[in-house]
Amino acid sequence: MLDKSLLEIMVCPHCKGGLTYNAQDQELVCKVEQFAYPIRDGIPVLLVEEARTIAQSGDAEHKADVISMKKDES
Ligand SMILES: [Zn+2]
Repeated sequence: MLDKSLLEIMVCPHCKGGLTYNAQDQELVCKVEQFAYPIRDGIPVLLVEEARTIAQSGDAEHKADVISMKKDES
């Protein structure tokens, strides 16, 4: 959905760090600060006041891992 070249030029407005695209949640994630910026109608909203803090340990990708995690592998 989101243009990769667009992603490369987008940075966190807070720390100016790189962002990771989370296609599942339609968010751009600043892994350094654990902020997630929403993407609305395909337009990234890179505003600190719109950002969501990722409270759990680990990043958004980890969150998906936890949900699908099954402790049946020994
Ligand atoms: Zn940041």
